[in-house]
Amino acid sequence: MLELKDLSYYVSGKKILDNVSMSFNVGKKYAILGTNGAGKSTVGYLIMGLEDYKPTYGRVYFNGEDITEKTVYERSKLGITLMWQEPARYEGLTVTNYLTLGGKLDITRSEIEDALEKVGLDPKLYMNRFVDRSLSGGERKRIELASIILLRPKYVVLDEPDSGIDIMSLDMINSIINYIASYGGTPIVITHREEMAYNTEEAYLLCAGKVLVNGETNKVIEIFKNICNTCDHPNVPVS
Ligand code: ADP
Ligand code: MG
Ligand code: MG
Repeated sequence: MLELKDLSYYVSGKKILDNVSMSFNVGKKYAILGTNGAGKSTVGYLIMGLEDYKPTYGRVYFNGEDITEKTVYERSKLGITLMWQEPARYEGLTVTNYLTLGGKLDITRSEIEDALEKVGLDPKLYMNRFVDRSLSGGERKRIELASIILLRPKYVVLDEPDSGIDIMSLDMINSIINYIASYGGTPIVITHREEMAYNTEEAYLLCAGKVLVNGETNKVIEIFKNICNTCDHPNVPVS
């Protein structure tokens, strides 16, 4: 189990997250819902433990162990992964090298081909491409999804997985979310779009840096639709 306990996060005196508690059980599909500026990505960065993203107050636990002081690298070794809203570029690294961590991982060519096919990329066309600016954001996102298929991390935070990918591939993203749950991993889908959350089982609704509701996704979506435009947040237009 991955647990965020009473997390608050301040940047230069401004409160970004306010007493956020969340728990993620093994093999269950989660969503973190909220409008733009609600604090969703910040929660993802605190889960991953990015530099400059240590909680001001509160702790993060992994199977009961306090990992608040652990680095990104230590957390990734525990099986925690973050798929960024803006996928990274790796100049000079081929898709095959990226997916095998430069040959360090014992992954066969046919496994790579299979993973690329699952994310809708023709292996013949993509295996030897560079993961640089010659690939579109959507293509790099698909390659990150392929790496999830191959590495099978335990907890996968997907930050706005549909951004930069055409809406046609919502099904593809959902099939990967299902795949993560099927090997006993825990997908955590960060999104401002209810369509992206339907495939999850439990959701947290974030509003102005606070958890407003937690429960069954369908119920949380109803609340999201009805009350979120009343959130008292500077970045949320009240309509
Ligand atoms: P979301 O992902 O839900 O859109 P974010 O977590 O990116 O929201 O941001 C939450 C709020 O915190 C926003 O108002 C954003 O402008 C603010 N914020 C995030 N990071 C910083 C920072 N480093 N400095 C100042 N404000 C920040
Ligand atoms: Mg719970
Ligand atoms: Mg965000």
